[in-house]
Amino acid sequence: MKSFDLIVIGGGSGGLAAAQRAAEYGARVVVFEAARLGGTCVNVGCVPKKVMWYAAEISSALNAAADYGFSIQRFGHDFKALKTRRDAYVARLNGIYAKNLERRGVMHVASWAQFVEPHVVADAGGQRYTAPHVLIATGGQPLVPAIPGAEQGITSDGFFELESLPDRVAVIGSGYIAVELAGVLNALGSKVSLLIRRESVLRSFEPLLSQHLATEMQNDGIKLITGAVPERVERNDKISLHTADGRQFDDFDQLIWAIGRAPLVDGFGLKDAGVALNESGYIQVDEYQNTTVDGIYAVGDVTGLAELTPVAIAAGRRLSDRLFNAQSDRKLSYANIPTVIFSHPPIGTVGLSEPEAIATYGEDQVRTYVSEFVPMFNALSEKKPKTAMKLVTAGTEEKVVGCHLIGLGADEILQGFAVAVVMGARKRDLDDTIAIHPTSAEELVTMR
Ligand SMILES: Cc1cc2nc3c(=O)[nH]c(=O)nc-3n(C[C@H](O)[C@H](O)[C@H](O)COP(=O)(O)OP(=O)(O)OC[C@H]3O[C@@H](n4cnc5c(N)ncnc54)[C@H](O)[C@@H]3O)c2cc1C
Repeated sequence: MKSFDLIVIGGGSGGLAAAQRAAEYGARVVVFEAARLGGTCVNVGCVPKKVMWYAAEISSALNAAADYGFSIQRFGHDFKALKTRRDAYVARLNGIYAKNLERRGVMHVASWAQFVEPHVVADAGGQRYTAPHVLIATGGQPLVPAIPGAEQGITSDGFFELESLPDRVAVIGSGYIAVELAGVLNALGSKVSLLIRRESVLRSFEPLLSQHLATEMQNDGIKLITGAVPERVERNDKISLHTADGRQFDDFDQLIWAIGRAPLVDGFGLKDAGVALNESGYIQVDEYQNTTVDGIYAVGDVTGLAELTPVAIAAGRRLSDRLFNAQSDRKLSYANIPTVIFSHPPIGTVGLSEPEAIATYGEDQVRTYVSEFVPMFNALSEKKPKTAMKLVTAGTEEKVVGCHLIGLGADEILQGFAVAVVMGARKRDLDDTIAIHPTSAEELVTMR
């Protein structure tokens, strides 16, 4: 039996952050990760996704170049070359993660971990490891519906394995991954149909964002098919999708399931260790990331709390601050988490939507400020995608409780405004800030 201070199961965003922070405090740490170090974000999530988004942005910029007087002829796009360069970048990051562990003296076991007892974990070869503290950071995986022919489709994982750009694609789903993948494929030249169960995309977000994005996606040529509940998939030459209401959609070269993700909680003895799941099937944790078993913790996607990389990292680091640096009250606040959706155009959002604010503070306490305009970048163009912004304020002081942006630059604008929201900024604090001209961001400090 090998003894450590901390065993970490999962070498993704949350696990690596916790392991490294603990080691910096002198803890003896072992991380189990059989797949590639870095987890979902680095290998099949944020990082390769953002590379693809940049490629899509370049494609859109080339389309706009003529508006600025460039005479440009496009000779296609080498998808394979992009993938090769992207994969090489990810491989470099995998190497950097391995070195970071080594430098801090963290042991990496390249194996799946299996609970033997609550504080004893075995690797695939049967070697046992024990520690007073065990962190579960096993993340999640994409869902595929249990319908006939579902295996004819791929998921976001498969999207990153594509060697060529599919001609006609069906993307199934309405969440952020669905709209991001649909936007990238469309901008690179695929003919994209986005099939959603209900009436709109991003239904859990501020309504202004979801309505605006649906309009812009359709203006960009994406076919939005609503009320489509998948029932059966068939492949002959091409892929056909049948929906519950009897409709049939044909001639797809690729079908991508982007219908959500499920936590990785099976197959490694979690139940034997006594760790309880909540009603939604995620690991149940309290505000300090404690599971129902003493000395066993969970962070990241496996807890189902704001499934984002910086959230997993922050929860992991704070846990190690608490366990190994005597910061006994250290924990993560899950309020006001800013997030960006790399759609076309991008979205930045923090805080409460208008309906959420009304539910929290009451209708008479909520005031909103909305602005819609054509960004200056498109002033010279024939195509005029719009930017939209909404500030949601509450109370007589008009505290800003929500800030929602969609449009060019929203992805980079939001972070600073998120600081203001977290600090409790009021509308008049924004008004007192001098605008930066000419930008889109200045709208946020000039709204009336
Ligand atoms: C397509 C896509 C795009 C995304 N884009 C963004 C984005 O732009 N911004 C953002 O913030 N977030 C994004 N995310 C979400 C982000 O990737 C996750 O929130 C983040 O990776 C969660 O980190 P984690 O540590 O909880 O889990 P993961 O990063 O998933 O790591 C879990 C690791 O545990 C390992 N593991 C599982 N079981 C075991 C076991 N028994 N033994 C050993 N190892 C095990 C897995 O192999 C995996 O490497 C995206 C996700 C996807 C799928």
